[in-house]
Amino acid sequence: MIVKPRIRGYVCITAHPKGCEAKVREEIEVAKAAKRSDGPKRVLVLGSSTGYGLSSRIAAAFGYDAATFGIFFERPSTNGKPASAGWYNSVAFEKAAHEAGLYAKSINGDAFSNEVKAQAIAQIKEDLGQIDLVVYSLASPRRTDPETGEVYKSVLKPIGDQAFTNRTMDTDRDEVKDVTIEPATEEEIQHTINVMGGQDWELWMKALDDAGVLAPGAKSVAYSYIGPEATWPVYTNGTIGQAKKDVERAAAAITEAYDCAAYVAVNKAVVTQASSAIPVVPLYISIIIKLMKAKGTHEDCIEQMVRLFDDRLYGKDLQLDNLGRIRVDDWEMQPDIQAKVIEIWPSITSETLDVLGDYTGYQHNFLTLFGFGLDGVDYDEDVEVDLPLPSSL
Ligand code: NAD
Repeated sequence: MIVKPRIRGYVCITAHPKGCEAKVREEIEVAKAAKRSDGPKRVLVLGSSTGYGLSSRIAAAFGYDAATFGIFFERPSTNGKPASAGWYNSVAFEKAAHEAGLYAKSINGDAFSNEVKAQAIAQIKEDLGQIDLVVYSLASPRRTDPETGEVYKSVLKPIGDQAFTNRTMDTDRDEVKDVTIEPATEEEIQHTINVMGGQDWELWMKALDDAGVLAPGAKSVAYSYIGPEATWPVYTNGTIGQAKKDVERAAAAITEAYDCAAYVAVNKAVVTQASSAIPVVPLYISIIIKLMKAKGTHEDCIEQMVRLFDDRLYGKDLQLDNLGRIRVDDWEMQPDIQAKVIEIWPSITSETLDVLGDYTGYQHNFLTLFGFGLDGVDYDEDVEVDLPLPSSL
């Protein structure tokens, strides 16, 4: 079929198989260019189909020739409809990895469940023996508790007794407008911690260690974000920030409990399916795309992950901050960039979105998440949308 983008709010409900493949191959080239020898060899990536998890998998496989086991929750093609972008990305990744002679297997299922943990561990035992790096990169709006069956839903809300009003970008109407978000209830705060906090990461690490598949001296990393003051009420000081604090708690607990060094890496704000859903953040991202491109420090997921692996996790110096976190958001947080954001923030309007920010760049990045807008892809061509995952054949 001929696949065109169909955007609904902050998601695109279609994805292009060849476009997703082209995007994955572009990321592979970036990872290859930075090839090193000393690094992870057997890697488990939780949330490996899109965004930071996909780029982590690519950086490990094509930067270090690592065997990778990926877990994600994606929609394959049904009834002739296109699959989700993460499905096509994973198909393309496995295909490229197998062509390069690299081990790559995946599970499409609920990583929060006991069943998927058991299935992954059994396969890892059989194929790889042990894992020396676990990347935790899940981003989900809900989680079913594996013991009680209770469904927790995460919210992106401020905490306290005040509603939060700030500027945001309405990508449907290409306009800058105000958004007001009511504060979260105690239950919403707790649910967000249960979904996006460190509990599931700890359950994974315990299950891996109990089964003897965590290699001695292994490493693990989970991702976080801090960002500028303009977003703090809805991010760092909001419900998601509480969940990220819990991820930091979990990193210390994992390091304490197992022969494994667990870190939180604070990454840069980039356009992903998860970040597009956060109010205020996309407007900020379109401003920093412009500023960081002008400074020559612009990075997307893959450049961030290559730098995380090469310079920090497997580099000379982790450069931990005073709370023990790895900071690859360092270029984003440079004082000159942030001073300009503060200057631009109150004055940017719908008319100046592409003058003071790089809205075109933002939209391009957003479309490429779904395999659209890639050079060399014929979008008028009839394409096969029902693609199987190579490792499940
Ligand atoms: P994303 O939406 O691109 O990826 C989420 C991944 O989680 C996908 O692979 C998806 O399939 C998987 N997933 C979701 N629910 C699942 C489930 N139940 N079982 C198995 N897999 C499941 O998200 P992202 O933006 O790359 O975020 C990844 C991490 O990076 C998050 O912790 C996020 O907070 C963090 N982070 C993101 C940004 C940003 O700007 N995007 C910045 C800093 C940190």
